[in-house]
Amino acid sequence: MSNQKAPNSSEAPENKGYRGRFAPSPTGPLHFGSLVTAIASYLEARCNHGEWLVRIEDLDPPREVAGADTSILRALEAHGFEWDEAPLWQSSRLDLYASALNKLHRHDLAYICHCTRKQIRALAKPGPLGLIYPGNCSKKKHLFDTRHAIRLRTHEHAISFNDKLQGRTELNLYNDVGDFLLRRGDGLAAYHLAVTVDDALQNITDVVRGSDLLLSTPCHIHVQQCLGYVQPGYTHIPIATDKGGKKLSKRGGADELNSGLAGANLVRGMRFLGLRPPVDLENAGIAEIWLWARDSWTIETLRGVMERPEIGHLK
Ligand code: GLU
Repeated sequence: MSNQKAPNSSEAPENKGYRGRFAPSPTGPLHFGSLVTAIASYLEARCNHGEWLVRIEDLDPPREVAGADTSILRALEAHGFEWDEAPLWQSSRLDLYASALNKLHRHDLAYICHCTRKQIRALAKPGPLGLIYPGNCSKKKHLFDTRHAIRLRTHEHAISFNDKLQGRTELNLYNDVGDFLLRRGDGLAAYHLAVTVDDALQNITDVVRGSDLLLSTPCHIHVQQCLGYVQPGYTHIPIATDKGGKKLSKRGGADELNSGLAGANLVRGMRFLGLRPPVDLENAGIAEIWLWARDSWTIETLRGVMERPEIGHLK
């Protein structure tokens, strides 16, 4: 386990078995909601004799909080998580996203978009992932540059996948999302591109993450298909919400976890995930808590706490 930045690599390692990951955005310290996702992805990886990686998704500087990356890693360590490779920072991989964009543009699968937000707002209808891009620039031949947004062409057929918890999920990207952003107007790689490139190049076989990202997955599958990547398995787990039913989020000011109470935090997270730890387990050592959890975990435990995200509450 090491906190050093991983060197850039465009070569996907050989697939030897299960590889999971936890991919926090450094928009604040570790809170209960992200701990729950980390626990579920970690237990799934370990119970499948797999590897578990941590990736810092730091491609949105205006939303990031200085030092949140190291604070998240320190909190994970204090809670007994052990990662199998050096954590990777997305900001150190911009060349990989740029080369994926070049490839998509060269094959006319993606195009430069000059639309302003105002222009899009004036024409677009709302969809489950936000405004549905009306396609204004899809037939224009704007020259490739580094200053404008880039969108991926979508097609009028449903993309479906079998989520291990949520079951069959499908979305018609053309009708419900529109050609979506791969690069934002400020030149930064968009989430849908970066997450897909990294999951593929890190050879992630299984993605376990919050159900607020369920309907983003068809976008990721479309990117995978365009770039010839292998599709990982997906498990979208219930997300922790506040009393008002809103997702706990770092940006929404969810409380930072106190690492001094790591045992109690872990036990609370495990209860949220449907496990039934004995009452006094939180007073045991961290290693003992993880041993108990690894013995008790099956993804089936989550079926009791399932919910599907409401349209309109999605990223
Ligand atoms: N970076 C995202 C977040 O912190 C998670 C993305 C993912 O797991 O695909 O919400």
